[in-house]
Amino acid sequence: MDFLPIFVNIRQQPCLVVGGGEVAARKVSLLLKAGAAVTVVSPRLSHELADMLKAGAISHAARDFADADIKQPVLVIAATDNRMVNQHVSELARARGIPVNVVDSPELCSFIMPSIVDRSPMQIAISTGGASPVLARMIRTKLEGCIPAGYGRLAALVDGFREKVKARFTDVNQRRMFWESVLEGSVAERVFAGHEDEAAAELDKAIAAGDARGEFKGEVYLVGAGPGDPDLLTFRALRLMQAADVVVYDRLVAPAIMELVRRDAELIYVGKERDNHTMRQENINQLLVRLAQEGKRVLRLKGGDPFIFGRGGEEIETLAENGVAFQVVPGITAAAGCAAYSGIPLTHRDYSQACVFVTGHLKDGSIDLNWKALAQPNQTVVFYMGLHGAPELCKNMIAHGLPPSTPVALVQKGTTPEHKTIIATLETLVETVRKNDLKPPTLIIVGEVVKLHEKLDWFDPHKPQGRAVKAGQW
Ligand code: SAH
Repeated sequence: MDFLPIFVNIRQQPCLVVGGGEVAARKVSLLLKAGAAVTVVSPRLSHELADMLKAGAISHAARDFADADIKQPVLVIAATDNRMVNQHVSELARARGIPVNVVDSPELCSFIMPSIVDRSPMQIAISTGGASPVLARMIRTKLEGCIPAGYGRLAALVDGFREKVKARFTDVNQRRMFWESVLEGSVAERVFAGHEDEAAAELDKAIAAGDARGEFKGEVYLVGAGPGDPDLLTFRALRLMQAADVVVYDRLVAPAIMELVRRDAELIYVGKERDNHTMRQENINQLLVRLAQEGKRVLRLKGGDPFIFGRGGEEIETLAENGVAFQVVPGITAAAGCAAYSGIPLTHRDYSQACVFVTGHLKDGSIDLNWKALAQPNQTVVFYMGLHGAPELCKNMIAHGLPPSTPVALVQKGTTPEHKTIIATLETLVETVRKNDLKPPTLIIVGEVVKLHEKLDWFDPHKPQGRAVKAGQW
């Protein structure tokens, strides 16, 4: 170990920054975040530093560095573009035993600055000992992605309970187990969902009961899994997928996404193919309530977005009626995902000023839509579940005024390794569907914007763009 990682308390302590450029400004911001009293010595200040001075956040000595500057500070940063000056500052500080950092010159530093993941009060500092700041930054980006923003709020909340917990559990092991169950359980989830007050009440009860697990009542996470590509999951979706005890999923969730749920979670398939409902909606609603009441963390995983033709609303209505706690996590809906991966902007100033999402499949199997409102120029219409009703759909759009030559895109298994875009017109759509043996899930996009596909098509399903995904067997 070349450096000892420590966290230094510099609140209200005098810190000196020599240099007034942009690099200096970044260091000053950090020092200010940690509550330091910062003096900047530099003949000139960058805009950012000048703003800080105006706001009264820093002191400024508008001149070159003088040896006397080094008398008072507890920490020194040299960030001028003059190596001689930096070296001089470093030598003086080190001679006096004051920690000094010289930007981009590890050999002149007595301390180095890490890359930081800031979840105040929690901090993660990453360092490669100066070997590769870029690598440290890359690791930081990875951590930023997988550590929920709410961890800072969680740390702040539990900080206020430390003494109480210490008094309640005198045994260190017991205390550790208690904190583990709090930090992995519903108290943490309440904080992440933005309910600090509920979390605090729950934590109080758990302390009184002497057990955090007993307090856990179970909850349901209604999560949108997006259209298929696992890279399109949200951070929150992924975290809850890895925390859940039970996963209730249906056919629309891509196999590559199912691979990311917690390995030992119980999986319950509730089907839903056209006309072949493995489990009736009412029973799914009840199942979610029952599982949560058993004290489980239940992940209800849905294709796309749970509130867009996903019946997510009905499911959480039943949960609310039964007093079961839930969270809803939005997902990328099929229209957004398919359009993006097929190079079809859903709106475009030259072609379309509105975009409508409609279902081509009603509860009783018929399609009864406001065709007049749909068959409008300068509008994009996206039909979900429209494959089966394609003949009726084309007939009605033409009968209500759209030219038969209006372009249509069929996007099959959008964003997955089997992504396929086929272009037709309202007139040729039925024949195209028949010829291409298209299978659900397929999305139908109608409107002039479809013309842009030819120019803007970019996605090659055989060349994974990010994470390598295996072809699923949808
Ligand atoms: N909640 C989902 C939609 C459920 S309805 C969402 O927000 O995307 C099911 C319909 O969505 C399918 O019949 C199909 O029209 C469309 N769909 C879902 N995923 C799709 C995909 N990957 N490619 C093409 N269409 C898709």
